[in-house]
Amino acid sequence: MAKINKLVIASHNRGKIREIGDLLRPFSIEVSSALELGFSDVEETGTTFEENACLKAVETAQKSGLAALGDDSGLMIEALNNDPGIYTARWAEQPDGSRDWSFAMGKAAGKLRDIGTDNWRAKFVCVLALAMDDGQVVVEGGEVSGTLVWPLRGDLGFGYDPMFVPDGYQQTFGEMSPAKKHSISHRHIAFQKILRQHLL
Ligand code: IMP
Repeated sequence: MAKINKLVIASHNRGKIREIGDLLRPFSIEVSSALELGFSDVEETGTTFEENACLKAVETAQKSGLAALGDDSGLMIEALNNDPGIYTARWAEQPDGSRDWSFAMGKAAGKLRDIGTDNWRAKFVCVLALAMDDGQVVVEGGEVSGTLVWPLRGDLGFGYDPMFVPDGYQQTFGEMSPAKKHSISHRHIAFQKILRQHLL
């Protein structure tokens, strides 16, 4: 695979764009995003993280004529049969079309309370797809296991970060500095695999 000089992050999610941008910063790659380029959101019609990451990457590579990195990620809660999974973002949706992450985390906690479980184990999953301008696609994944907490803690990060304490740590992702989260996150793990094999 050819060395990449320019890359589009195939996302409109500012949290993801910031994190992937941080991960790419040490490399001499000119980075932009689907949000910045004004592309419309890619419809997530896949049934797996892999399919959705590929849809985002391939469509964005086609529109931009550049290499594109798609991220499909989410939270899998053990006691809820791994929900919300690929529907993690949808749990935040509001009637006016906006997304409310406190509402989504409240929904997760409410469902766990409703079934009366004290198993609040969960994992974050991230699948990254790198689509090249010549149509080649590579896909890599990463996971981080941990425990959900309530009340929410911390206002760093994005999405469900204030609810998730990774194994081996006391802080939620929402309380961790970006550098600390990047060193252990599901996104970092997937990124390292893509990087080692395809970007360096
Ligand atoms: P999607 O990949 O666009 O379907 O959205 C996945 C959703 O999962 C995001 O909008 C976040 O709410 C959540 N998510 C994925 N990765 C993280 C993370 O690193 N921290 C917190 N929430 C995340």
